[in-house]
Amino acid sequence: MATERTLSIIKPDATRRNLTGKIIAKFEDAGLKVVASRRIRLSQADAEAFYGVHRERPFFKDLVQFMISGPVVVQVLEGEGAIAKNREVMGATNPANAAAGTIRKEFAESIEANSVHGSDAPEAAANEIKFFFRDLDIVG
Ligand code: ADP
Ligand code: MG
Repeated sequence: MATERTLSIIKPDATRRNLTGKIIAKFEDAGLKVVASRRIRLSQADAEAFYGVHRERPFFKDLVQFMISGPVVVQVLEGEGAIAKNREVMGATNPANAAAGTIRKEFAESIEANSVHGSDAPEAAANEIKFFFRDLDIVG
């Protein structure tokens, strides 16, 4: 399998509870390397654009409000099959369905406040990485 890069976001519920380090340890334990990282506060326009694919979903407004409710940590993770591996480490969207040992099982508060975002496919990963990082800011 090829080396890939994927976009991760540690969401406001996790930064609020000071879980950044514990979540990054899960990535590193799975063989994913943090090759870019920034702690930021998303604007409403940023959050709406980033989650644009979900614009028509009933939870869209709440999701945007949640994502701007506190700081987030945006990161690029690199590794063998990083996109799928990150999704595996994250666990299912709804923590009630997430496997033991996953980030969402251990840390998520709800289906919305579920601690992490991860790109779901190669094209999404490329676009989401570009949304937050210049090539120069990613150091593998
Ligand atoms: P994932 O983050 O696992 O890729 P989705 O892309 O389907 O999940 O949804 C994006 C985000 O929207 C989720 O991580 C979660 O924060 C929120 N979300 C998804 N489904 C719901 C829902 N039914 N109710 C409230 N929030 C939701
Ligand atoms: Mg998704």
